[in-house]
Amino acid sequence: MLPYLSIPEAELSLGRNLTFAETLWFKYSATKSDYFLYCHNTIFLLIFYTLVPLPWVFMELKRSKKIDQYKIQPKYKNSLSDMFDCYKKVMMIFLVAVVPLQLLSFPVIKWIGIRTSLPLPSLWEMISQILVYILIEDYANYWLHRMLHNKWGYEKIHKVHHEYTAPIGFAAPYAHWAEIIILGQASFLGPLIVPGHMFTFWIWFIIRQIEAIETHSGYEFPWSPSKFIPFYGGAVYHDYHHFVGGKSQSNFASVFTYCDYIYGTDKGYRYNKEVFLKAREQSRIENEAEDESRKGLKSE
Ligand SMILES: [Zn+2]
Ligand SMILES: [Zn+2]
Repeated sequence: MLPYLSIPEAELSLGRNLTFAETLWFKYSATKSDYFLYCHNTIFLLIFYTLVPLPWVFMELKRSKKIDQYKIQPKYKNSLSDMFDCYKKVMMIFLVAVVPLQLLSFPVIKWIGIRTSLPLPSLWEMISQILVYILIEDYANYWLHRMLHNKWGYEKIHKVHHEYTAPIGFAAPYAHWAEIIILGQASFLGPLIVPGHMFTFWIWFIIRQIEAIETHSGYEFPWSPSKFIPFYGGAVYHDYHHFVGGKSQSNFASVFTYCDYIYGTDKGYRYNKEVFLKAREQSRIENEAEDESRKGLKSE
């Protein structure tokens, strides 16, 4: 809730006219409580995890020779019910772990110093803060994820996330509730160290969700904008981590590749990448042969 009753009052307090974005923010947030504004993240979470994976769902349903060239593990095909099943399980995890956690974490947000007031941060301030959040989250996630790959952590917690040896977008947050809480801490660490505006916090969470969905999409497109981000791991990088599964001591990082490189946990990937990509080629050939024989049977 903003401490101004009108736009002129806000302008008087700031000593300047409100920008267009600030006017919109005023109109939207002036009478809403900070708690309600924070709850938007929960709504974004549900909306984005429902909508963003949909293009990949359609691709999976329309699998063809053309689409298969972008599928990382073409051997695996998911039906609509497989994917809907995953979606239902994820929504269940959200309702049991994520939503309560988000709703109860508001005092932490207040304590961190996430503000809802005017002025809004400049674009440069937002971009630089989000970049810091990404780097901090990536580093923390690397170690937390690596820790979950010890014998106890894997068997008791992380195994659930690895049920998908060929991940799909909906499976990005598919994990044990304890993993959601453990890895979720990494997303709060950046805002804790460099507190910003609530709007920056929203954008940060949305970017993080989209990134996780893309990384778990199971597809790699040469024209994907993320391909041009330096040291970006991406879908193939994380797919390999799922492909190797429980024995995986490789590719722990969630966004960039530098942590795995520095700490020597990408050796398995670098050594086996060729084999992994060859298996992809082999699966494509087998899929094509299968399609051809199916066509042959139909025409007989
Ligand atoms: Zn893992
Ligand atoms: Zn994963």
